[in-house]
Amino acid sequence: MPTIILDNGRLNWALVSPAIIGTWAFIVIGLERLFPYDKGQKLFRKGWFTDFFWYTLVQSYVLGLVIQAFAEFLDAKAGRPRWVADWPLWQQVILFLLVHDFYIYWFHRAQHRFPLLWRSHEAHHSVKDVDWLAGSRSHPIEIMINQSIEFVPIVLFASPELFLVKGTIDAVWGMYIHSNINVRSGPLQYVINGPEMHRWHHSAEYIGYGFNYGTKFAVWDYLFGTAHRPPRKPPGYGLDEAFPDGYFQQIVHAFRRFDAAPAAPVSTGARLAQPASGAPVAQPASGAPVAQPEQPVIASTSKAVAPARESTVDTR
Ligand SMILES: [Zn+2]
Ligand SMILES: [Zn+2]
Repeated sequence: MPTIILDNGRLNWALVSPAIIGTWAFIVIGLERLFPYDKGQKLFRKGWFTDFFWYTLVQSYVLGLVIQAFAEFLDAKAGRPRWVADWPLWQQVILFLLVHDFYIYWFHRAQHRFPLLWRSHEAHHSVKDVDWLAGSRSHPIEIMINQSIEFVPIVLFASPELFLVKGTIDAVWGMYIHSNINVRSGPLQYVINGPEMHRWHHSAEYIGYGFNYGTKFAVWDYLFGTAHRPPRKPPGYGLDEAFPDGYFQQIVHAFRRFDAAPAAPVSTGARLAQPASGAPVAQPASGAPVAQPEQPVIASTSKAVAPARESTVDTR
């Protein structure tokens, strides 16, 4: 192996990481063209440039530097503990994957539950054509919170290369779960998260506070009753309210007055969960059971939708 790839006998992740991410992007784009989940979705869809240039290149680079500097500052203050740095790298990877994904599940669920936190997450749900690039659209506040909680412990307690290894896994997994690939992972979907469940998370058919909050592991949703995988495809994606197109407008949009906007992330779901007086509660066309982890804010004084259940029969 060329020495440029190896650094003192270890992989030089500063070079390997972008090579893996770039190669994976091309593989996923190719698989989206060959085996599309939603046929007819364009490669250069609306918002592509914003997501690629501003979110993927500029924002992730700038915030990566800020978070790394913040983590190194805390690391120096804490006396560089390195508690698990002696573990084999793969064990450190598994430890931080599991711990952070468990945190993400609950924080993500809270973002869908509380209007203030939803402001940091709604940009991520504004993409109408969910694809390999859609996961990059995240408000900088959301990134700062999640990636500080993710990477500060890594810098403090793990070996130095884990920072880039974990960042690479995040990028690869993020592209995969949003991809427009017709994946059918069978029993694996109960453990490993993929587009089968995460595309439903972005569905315009937003019921209650949503479902499928897991990022890398689906097991949290099955354990905590928020899994939703009906035997059909989502009717569409994104928010059913106006959302600005430009990067800077999207950032500023999070700071609008609360009385000028819907009070909670329940958008289409508000209609499902809060029918007009006397009208029956709407259900998905197939009649498939729907996850309903908590009572919606908007529907708190009205009828609620079906109790938490999920369909595991994938016949689409
Ligand atoms: Zn979400
Ligand atoms: Zn997503």
